[in-house]
Amino acid sequence: MITRTADFDLSTRNTFRMKVRCALFVEITAEEDLQELDFASLPKPLMVMGGGSNLLFRGDFPGTVLHVAITGAPAWDPGSGLVTVGAGVVFDAFCDWAAQKDLWGPENLSLIPGECGASAVQNIGAYGVEVKDILADIRAWDTLEGKFVHISPSHCAYGYRTSLFKTDWKGRYIITYVTYRLSADPRPVLDYGGIRKALEGQEVLSPRLIRDTIIGIRNAKLPDPAVTGSAGSFFCNPVVDKAHFERIVSIAKEDNGQDCKVPHFEVGDRIKVPAAWMIEQCGFKGKANGGARVYRNQPLVIVNESGDATPDEIVALENAIIRAVEAKYGVTLHPEVEHI
Ligand SMILES: Cc1cc2nc3c(=O)[nH]c(=O)nc-3n(C[C@H](O)[C@H](O)[C@H](O)COP(=O)(O)OP(=O)(O)OC[C@H]3O[C@@H](n4cnc5c(N)ncnc54)[C@H](O)[C@@H]3O)c2cc1C
Repeated sequence: MITRTADFDLSTRNTFRMKVRCALFVEITAEEDLQELDFASLPKPLMVMGGGSNLLFRGDFPGTVLHVAITGAPAWDPGSGLVTVGAGVVFDAFCDWAAQKDLWGPENLSLIPGECGASAVQNIGAYGVEVKDILADIRAWDTLEGKFVHISPSHCAYGYRTSLFKTDWKGRYIITYVTYRLSADPRPVLDYGGIRKALEGQEVLSPRLIRDTIIGIRNAKLPDPAVTGSAGSFFCNPVVDKAHFERIVSIAKEDNGQDCKVPHFEVGDRIKVPAAWMIEQCGFKGKANGGARVYRNQPLVIVNESGDATPDEIVALENAIIRAVEAKYGVTLHPEVEHI
């Protein structure tokens, strides 16, 4: 079914809760709808939207927002371990389904907002797992060729929160189904974000136990999108070379004393430094600009604290953070949140 609504209010469709509208909102519930849709007649530009949890609308959108609301129960083939899920299924509902079936794969990605379609665009990640680790196939409508295609994840150039869907292929494919490969054999990933510690004393691990543990850790750190507007991590964590990292360490020691330790992770021969740490060191933790604030429990997140924050207030806070981190550490932070 195709539903078209002109002058649509997007404020409940984006987790930042920006009070914006689009000229036309189109929702489809089946693949055939894409064959029927007269793309040429739609107000331009066209954007595809999932749950709106990684977007910052800078103002009203002059064109068409298309939502793929293909849902339904996951189609599971126990022999191959493959499960195919509609692009409009809430990703966390899929994680819950897998935990119920005692299947391993997405448990560390529990509670990430958004839909399955976007999971393959974003290469969502958390607690040592990225969705590319469990992706098997992506089915999409190719707007250039006007036909359905299967895309192998090996062709998507997945990286840290990125893929060709966000770069060279931007706007070309409308994802309708995503196939994940799950496993009945235990595959726990425990070495990130305090999971192992939280599981101390547990003798039998299960996807459900890990899922529940991760939900507990996330709830303590991150704003609940049902209560406070945000788009999760606002910035990507920067990666620097070793010499640059040493300069950051010496600045940190000058600021905080010789015992100061700079959190970091090795990525090949380069070093990833948490942007949250830099933001906090620059004095932005808890800082507000109008209705927008740097979240106190996790400075990587900017929240719409008042519920009435404007896009300009958020962007001004974003720019102030980028300038301060650049001035102190010579590192340019890049937003993870897509600005529309
Ligand atoms: C509180 C909070 C915590 C978060 N934590 C994490 C985290 O731990 N890890 C993480 O990786 N992310 C996290 N995020 C970010 C966000 O949840 C993910 O980026 C998520 O995948 C976005 O899904 P969405 O359906 O909301 O997509 P949207 O924000 O609507 O869209 C994201 C992009 O995907 C494209 N897109 C969406 N659906 C389709 C489709 N069917 N076909 C083609 N393109 C499509 C859009 O055009 C856009 O470019 C968090 C966000 C919040 C609010």
